Amino acid sequence: MADSMRGSRLGSTSFEVDKGLRVPVQLTTYICPNEHRSTFPFYAGAEGIPDTWTCECGQLAVKLGATMPIQVPAWTRRSHYEILRERRSVEELAVLLEERIALMHSGDAVRSA
Ligand SMILES: [Zn+2]
Repeated sequence: MADSMRGSRLGSTSFEVDKGLRVPVQLTTYICPNEHRSTFPFYAGAEGIPDTWTCECGQLAVKLGATMPIQVPAWTRRSHYEILRERRSVEELAVLLEERIALMHSGDAVRSA
């Protein structure tokens, strides 16, 4: 009897080490702005290993070697109309529209556009 089995119960207990399914693994490390490092094993042939990972602290962690994705500031997501409305009131826009319509009817629209 092997020493490792001494004192253990005989029966259905298996001492065989389960080596599991062997697949090539690629360790991928992510670093967040707070310098937390998280490393995960991905299947080496996997496509689409994410460049970013949400760290346990809530920050966006970036894969080692990857570049930080450009964060589009919220203000660039405004529509053209929203930007226009910050510069002009509805009354001003109504006056401008009247002027443009008048120009179009007079035939001067191309010259003064
Ligand atoms: Zn973190």
